[in-house]
Amino acid sequence: MKALIYNGPCDVSVQDVPEARIQMPTDVLVKITSTNICGSDLHMYEGRTSLEKGRIIGHENLGEVVAIGKAVTKVKIGDRVCLPFNVGCGFCDSCDQGKPNLCLTNNPAGAGAAYGYADAGPWQGGQAEFLQVPFGDFNCLILPEDAQEKENDYVMLADIWPTGHHAVVLSGLQPGESIVIYGAGPVGLMAAYSATLMGADQVFVVDEHPDRLKLAEQIGAIPIDFSKVVPPEVVNAMTGGNGADRGCECVGWQCHDPGHHHKSNERPELTLNNLVRSVKSGGGLGVVGLYESSDPNGDDELAKKGQIKFDMGLFFQKALTMGSGQANVKKYNRSLMRLINAGKAKPSFVVSHELPLSEAPNAYKHFDNRDEGWTKVILKPQT
Ligand code: ZN
Ligand code: ZN
Repeated sequence: MKALIYNGPCDVSVQDVPEARIQMPTDVLVKITSTNICGSDLHMYEGRTSLEKGRIIGHENLGEVVAIGKAVTKVKIGDRVCLPFNVGCGFCDSCDQGKPNLCLTNNPAGAGAAYGYADAGPWQGGQAEFLQVPFGDFNCLILPEDAQEKENDYVMLADIWPTGHHAVVLSGLQPGESIVIYGAGPVGLMAAYSATLMGADQVFVVDEHPDRLKLAEQIGAIPIDFSKVVPPEVVNAMTGGNGADRGCECVGWQCHDPGHHHKSNERPELTLNNLVRSVKSGGGLGVVGLYESSDPNGDDELAKKGQIKFDMGLFFQKALTMGSGQANVKKYNRSLMRLINAGKAKPSFVVSHELPLSEAPNAYKHFDNRDEGWTKVILKPQT
């Protein structure tokens, strides 16, 4: 089958690899019809993680079930399914407690597993024609009758919408509160979208890319261009001098000063410290941007060890709370699916490109450069 392979920093290619197949009786085999390129993939693409050469990337996957193992009872051949990026088992301590994002079964290196992802177990990614899905009954979200018609919406349930939603939930947002979101990449835009659906009165979105800020504005958020203004000053001025009630970090440790993104202008502490300055005393922060426990190829001496210069003093003085970590997709994907099914949400507004798998290497280049107009790419491996 054809699949997108990681060859080394900034080098991916579509290659013929052995076909994905059922290996365990609990496996499901999915013919992938939509698979997104994610901002998290870019950390791996740039060689800033320990991803092994030769791995298939891709953790935002949707497709049609074409084979099931003998022990699969719920999922049927022909079902349209969206796969949470977390690979859970359903029976470990974490899964038992409703936290399959910290599954203890599927990653020999630690808690939490994912498809085609650094340090997240042996699972291949879905930027390919087929994907082996372990513990299929547990991991497949079976989609309703409008699955094909709304495929570009439903595929956002694999990661970015639940992740953006999780950031807002972690922040503790209540209806009628204000929230500032750093990062207008796909996850930041989804956080802004969820905050709006959850009844926030003011939603601020901070970024420097005009195309992304425009999308934020389209869904009713207040765009803040950090290449032109100092974001905490603007947020404080627009919230009576106090700061927003809540804040979300949707950038991660590769955040940087304004201007073209390069290792040399990365400041891993930048958005977290801006959040501390933008959120009012007693407020809450939700951090879903990726922070790695090591970054051997980074320039920042602290970040190489997974550390940052965090404003702990001000954070403590303001009595802020912070929730962090990768989203537990299964906690949210079913209810968010219902909003799409009911016609009350259309998260595909972030999509800028639908491309065949053969175009993936080119798409990675554009998305990694944050080229104007490349906000979210869906790959269609069957076209
Ligand atoms: Zn993702
Ligand atoms: Zn588990």
